[in-house]
Amino acid sequence: MLRPLLSRLPARIHGLYSRLALPSTAPRPMPPARGMSTVSFSHGRQFTRKMQRSPWVTAALVGIPLLGAGFILTHLEETEYTHRTRFIAVSPERELAMGLEYHKDVVKEAGNLVLPASAPRTRMVARVASRIIAANNLKRNIDWEVTVVDKPIVNAFVVPGGKIVVYTGIIDVISTTKDPEGALAAILAHEVAHVILRHGAENVSWSYVISALALATAAYFGISPDFTSSLGQLAFSLPHSRAAETEADVVGAELMARACYSPVIASELWHHMDRIAPSSGFALLRTHPTNADRAAKLQVLYPQVQPVFLNCAEAFRHAIHHPKLA
Ligand SMILES: [Zn+2]
Repeated sequence: MLRPLLSRLPARIHGLYSRLALPSTAPRPMPPARGMSTVSFSHGRQFTRKMQRSPWVTAALVGIPLLGAGFILTHLEETEYTHRTRFIAVSPERELAMGLEYHKDVVKEAGNLVLPASAPRTRMVARVASRIIAANNLKRNIDWEVTVVDKPIVNAFVVPGGKIVVYTGIIDVISTTKDPEGALAAILAHEVAHVILRHGAENVSWSYVISALALATAAYFGISPDFTSSLGQLAFSLPHSRAAETEADVVGAELMARACYSPVIASELWHHMDRIAPSSGFALLRTHPTNADRAAKLQVLYPQVQPVFLNCAEAFRHAIHHPKLA
């Protein structure tokens, strides 16, 4: 998942929020000495009201959204595969640099927990990944690379620049499915779909807009930027994140089918995940759809993707085998 990469920019923005935010535990004012005037909290509210009446503030309130709308309209592009028009303000070069930097940090932190290329689990990930890449013509001058980290983390992600990272924790989980290699294909195809669809760059782009809106709204109404930022997260970022996950599931099912992995495995995988660790928490506060929701949506998609699987290239079909995991 690209979320760790994305969290960097918002984290910096959050740093800015926290500097601008009102302290939550403001010291109590000392009682005024006899004969001295007091500075009450109502002065802050009066200042806010004065600001709200200022023609400059009104002009800014009209001008900034217009400039913002113009910026968004001049940064629209269409997604590959799904042809969805979306706003994106991060260049592919910047996205690539962020991806490579993040991957470098992950590998450095993992140190000697990175399994060698000859390890059976690394070879299995490389085999599945190369099949998905070849079947979907994704080479595109990208230097695809597989890193398997021996940590009990149930996660895998691909960053721009083709760096695939899989933790052995998720390999342990899929090893208990009916078709471990097919389940791994479902996971990798989903993660590769995030990269092809540039979901990371899209999320960073929207984080700029939401942060600017949150800061402007907070300044105008004299409220905490943390509060307006949380509202932005709830109203836009989280629904957008869940929609991106579903889009990656849809495109991922097609990518795996073209590499001759049955798309049925993808919905089976999410049923399996749900049995192991049922989704919890309030749906509206989730970054991802629930496991059950993902399984159901993939099942509905099956008749549409099945023909891709049935017509997948013979070269990939005969490559199907089920090696034992180390
Ligand atoms: Zn995802």
